[in-house]
Amino acid sequence: MNEKQFTQTCIVCSKPSAEGIRIWNQFVCVSCERDIVKTEVEDAKYNFYIERMKKIWLDQIS
Ligand SMILES: [Zn+2]
Repeated sequence: MNEKQFTQTCIVCSKPSAEGIRIWNQFVCVSCERDIVKTEVEDAKYNFYIERMKKIWLDQIS
């Protein structure tokens, strides 16, 4: 086996990535994280992310 990079599946785009952040024990890749950070509150995409995050968060506390 090769020395493999530790990858995790991003909960936003569902793609495996080696780099990213963890939010509520879930993984978000760097590109999605940047997207979230730069997305304006008024943007529809922001709502999409918030809905995803809320769902994860609710899963964590239930
Ligand atoms: Zn992602």
